[in-house]
Amino acid sequence: MNSNNLHLRNLRNIGVIAHVDAGKTTTTERILFYTGENHRIGDVNDGNTAMDFDPQERARGITIHSAATTVHWQGTQINLIDTPGHIDFNLEVRRSLRVLDGAVVVFDGVAGVEPQTETNWRLADEYRVPRLAFVNKLDRVGADFQRVVASLQERLAVRALPLQLPIGAEGDFRGIVDLLTMQALVWDRDDAKAPPRVDAIPPELLAAAEAARARLLEAAAEQDDALLDAWLRGDELPLDSVRAALRRGTIAGAFVPVLAGSAFRNRGVEPLLDAVVAYLPAPGEAPGAAAVEGPLSALAFKLTADDHGAMVFVRVYSGTLKRGDTVFNANTGKAERVARLYEIHADRRVERDELVAGDIAGVVGLKDVLTGHTLAARKDAPVLESIVVPEAVIDVAIEPRQQADAAALAKGLGTLVREDPSLRLRQDADSGQTLLSGMGELQLEVAVEKLRSRFGVDVAVGRPQVAYRETITAAAEVRHVHKKQSGGPGQFAELTLRVAPLPRGDGFRFESTVVGGAIPREFIPAVE
Ligand code: GDP
Repeated sequence: MNSNNLHLRNLRNIGVIAHVDAGKTTTTERILFYTGENHRIGDVNDGNTAMDFDPQERARGITIHSAATTVHWQGTQINLIDTPGHIDFNLEVRRSLRVLDGAVVVFDGVAGVEPQTETNWRLADEYRVPRLAFVNKLDRVGADFQRVVASLQERLAVRALPLQLPIGAEGDFRGIVDLLTMQALVWDRDDAKAPPRVDAIPPELLAAAEAARARLLEAAAEQDDALLDAWLRGDELPLDSVRAALRRGTIAGAFVPVLAGSAFRNRGVEPLLDAVVAYLPAPGEAPGAAAVEGPLSALAFKLTADDHGAMVFVRVYSGTLKRGDTVFNANTGKAERVARLYEIHADRRVERDELVAGDIAGVVGLKDVLTGHTLAARKDAPVLESIVVPEAVIDVAIEPRQQADAAALAKGLGTLVREDPSLRLRQDADSGQTLLSGMGELQLEVAVEKLRSRFGVDVAVGRPQVAYRETITAAAEVRHVHKKQSGGPGQFAELTLRVAPLPRGDGFRFESTVVGGAIPREFIPAVE
């Protein structure tokens, strides 16, 4: 095996997916902590988490960007691709699902499967992303691990396969039973730095653990003929073979391993990281994964701009991307120079000389690359993805509160639209308003907040003024032509009347347009 294959085998590109509030940010925070990336645990409630760079996100406690953060666990590099949870960012979820190889889906131990999880679960099915389920918040009043497992089976129609059972419930949730090793891991304190104590399984859990273990071993045996023979003979199964079989079944989508924990109370996150390494696929390993051999082919999946300038996050599918290289944008045919390559860690960026197949990192220096574009060794290389942007469903009118900010607003809007192709910008011909359209209210609110926080522009947001147009054709002369403006509430903003002679002296066409209200009858031109 060459060094590149070894790198591939020890690489996991994963996303953490959840319904808003299930604990995605907290779980991600704890992952950064346990992998040594972030030695101060940022509590979402304090608004100082390490993953959410954007003040807007901190304020809301939701994560919007799909930027990638690199961590290491037990010799494996894990790139955490941040996936937005809210439906308004469906396009971003799709884009991140396209570039990740596996996912951890976080469930609220009380709420179980929530609508957002269901939507994202279907999307992950579409992209054939192998998953682990993490049942979080088991310390909460009303949390019930088995009920969540049952809701996974029923609502998501998956074979949910617990790898663990929780020890204690609600406020007394203190550890897990590892069903493979049949050991109990107990966290005596909430302190994140305190490792779990290995203990015997509490006697009252023994029967349930035996039964759950039998289901787990049976599922593993189904993946492997030799294991199945041993299972049928009643032999003890070697744990390494069981883990390999569980890995195969998880990657093939035969079942979804389920883990238990409380991210907030620092329980269950280290075993979750072990499971990511053990069961989620390396690049190229999942069914339908792109080939890792061949010339350079990379997909741009996220554009961000910060104080350091613009950065394009790419996933390299095959070949090598080197610092200083000139590559082609297969969508535009243009040559692009790669100035610098960065791995983003929780609190720093690490420069890389080159990226190889499977890698995900940020590229600085690309001029005309948009989300969804393919970077390739040749100008005429096939593109990895057709860029389909769904129709916008909502729009708002935007104007600067201070006219002096007009240029800054135009620049800010231009950047936001480039970063997120599901945001669109247009000028309404009738009202002259600048309209920003998107997939949902929250997406537009976030965009407006970014204009404020990143570009320093305070904007007024309003409902777009709907233009009503009425055309009257009459073989007559115009007696009155009104152009009138009225500012009061419920009033129209502007009325214009265009008069055009019809060909061959057949009369005139009157076209009246009212912006901001219905046409008051008295302003329809009087015709004789
Ligand atoms: P996200 O919206 O999915 O990113 O969820 P957050 O990580 O922001 O968590 C939402 C809320 O749930 C925050 O107030 C967290 O402190 C809280 N929370 C997260 N994990 C747990 C947990 O394991 N137990 C309890 N009791 N609360 C948690």
